[in-house]
Formats: sequence, C-alpha cells, structure tokens
Amino acid sequence: MRRDSLLIDLPEPKDADPDAGAALNEILGGQFGEMSTLNNYMFQSFNFRDKTKLKPFHSLVASITAEELGHVELVTTGISLLNNGPPSKAPTAHPADAPYAHMRKARDVAGFAMGAGAGLPFDSNGRPWNATFTFHTGNLVLDLLHNFFLECGARMHKLRVYEMQTDPVGREVLGYLLVRGSVHAQAFALALKKLTGVEMTNLLPVPNITHDNIPEARKFEVEGRHRVLYRFSDRDYADIAGIWSEDETTYDKTGPLEVVDLPPDPGPDSLKAMEGSASSFTPDYAPEEILEIARKLYGKAKG
Ligand code: MN
Ligand code: MN
Repeated sequence: MRRDSLLIDLPEPKDADPDAGAALNEILGGQFGEMSTLNNYMFQSFNFRDKTKLKPFHSLVASITAEELGHVELVTTGISLLNNGPPSKAPTAHPADAPYAHMRKARDVAGFAMGAGAGLPFDSNGRPWNATFTFHTGNLVLDLLHNFFLECGARMHKLRVYEMQTDPVGREVLGYLLVRGSVHAQAFALALKKLTGVEMTNLLPVPNITHDNIPEARKFEVEGRHRVLYRFSDRDYADIAGIWSEDETTYDKTGPLEVVDLPPDPGPDSLKAMEGSASSFTPDYAPEEILEIARKLYGKAKG
C-alpha cells in the first residue's frame, strides 16, 4: 500500500502561501476531502459482506482505497509545500526579529503554530476531519451510490478550490485529482450499471464541467490517465476488469478503459521538495548533525 514516491511529480512552490494551503486543506480534511474518500472505501472494503460472491465489487472498492491513500499523501504534500514555500525562501532571521510576523494574518495560525505548516486532517477552517463522514450500510447498492455521490461532490469542491489557487503546486494537485475523481465517479457508475442495469454513466459528468479549460487536468487526459484504473498489485484484484472493462469508453469518449497493475511511479525524486529548513521557526534544529546521523544509520542498514 505504500510507495516511496508520490503519484505525480509536483513543481516547487513559487512562494509560501499559507492561505492557499489552508484552502487546499478542504480537499484533505473537508467532508468531501481525500480523508473521507479514503476512509469510506477502506471501511466499506474491510466490512464488505459476501466478499467472495461479489468479488469484483469488493476488489473495486479495495483497489480504489489504495489510490485514495496516495491522494491523501499528494494533497498533504501540496499543503505543506504551499504553507512553507521553497526551501530557498525560508526565513532565516533571528527569532527576536519576528521572521514569521506575516503569519499573524494567515487564516490558520493554530495550524502553523502547532503543526509547522504540515498538511494535517483538518478542513479549510481548521475543523478536524470527522469519522461521521464515513458511510457504510452493508447494502452494496446504497454504498456504491454514496460513493458515486461522494466523487461527484468532491469534484465540485476541487474545482472551486482550483479556482482559488495561483501557485502551480495547488493547481497541479487539483488538476490531477479532478481527472482521477472523474475516473472514480465513472468506476462507481459502471459498478452500479453492472449490478442493477441502471445507466448512471448517462449522468456524467456531474457537475457538468469539462477539463478543457483546466490545463493541469487536461494534460493528464492527453496522457491517457483517465483511461486507467490501478489495482496497486500484480497479484490482486484482477477482476476489477469485469467492471472497468475494455468494452467501455472513457467519460470523454476518447478511448477504451484499461486496468493496469501498478500505479504511476514518478520516482523518489517526486518527494524532493520536502526539505527541512533550519529557520528560526525551529531554532534548535541542526541539519548538518541530523544528516550525519542519518548517513551513519543508512550505512549501518546497508551493512
Ligand atoms: Mn481521491
Ligand atoms: Mn476518488
């Protein structure tokens, strides 16, 4: 379930923009955020009734769970990058010179004071993510219907937060998530169609937004990322191909659907922007000492 890279490579932020980070926090810990999609599918798959008889449906919910974990990591990284800015622009002034005076006016002062600008599971107003956002009834049709609704609602929120973002980091995160959210909405719609015969796919896209005006989303469609559903394994969940099937076409009618074994892997360098900063915000932090310790531990581990 874990990989040593993000799902996509993110650009460096231009500047610290903690209010943009706070807005992006809605997509992490808001009611329709990634914490909600992750926990919905995770607990639905853990508590799934008649797993064996209904295997393709269990596999679908379980494999999308793994992707949502990757989305949580991606948004968390985006928030942290926006909150802190590029390492080269980290404040270096002495604590007595109030290097973070500007943070008094940021909308999430508590998040910065306590969490050092990390992405944490709160919404854009600092309210904690809430377990009551997790929906599980044990009725498969109702749960799939809820998941379809959740993905459609999440798309609307992502679009609104995208429209608030001026830094490339937030736009890149949301462009990618808009595409993947559309894929998940289509996946749950197809599951409902194959289970009940009801053509939920005719409703798509809900909301009715194309990605033509969103370059950060459009480029992932040009790459064909909207054709694929990942099963995060070369061993498990192959039967999702019964739902995400080759005889179906993408939501924009440009090509057949495809199941791929492993998720995209831009490599460990995709984590490169998350550097520590020896600033007055963490005055006792001595990076060279910690790097030396890390080097020794790494050498030891390699034997
Ligand atoms: Mn997601
Ligand atoms: Mn999703």
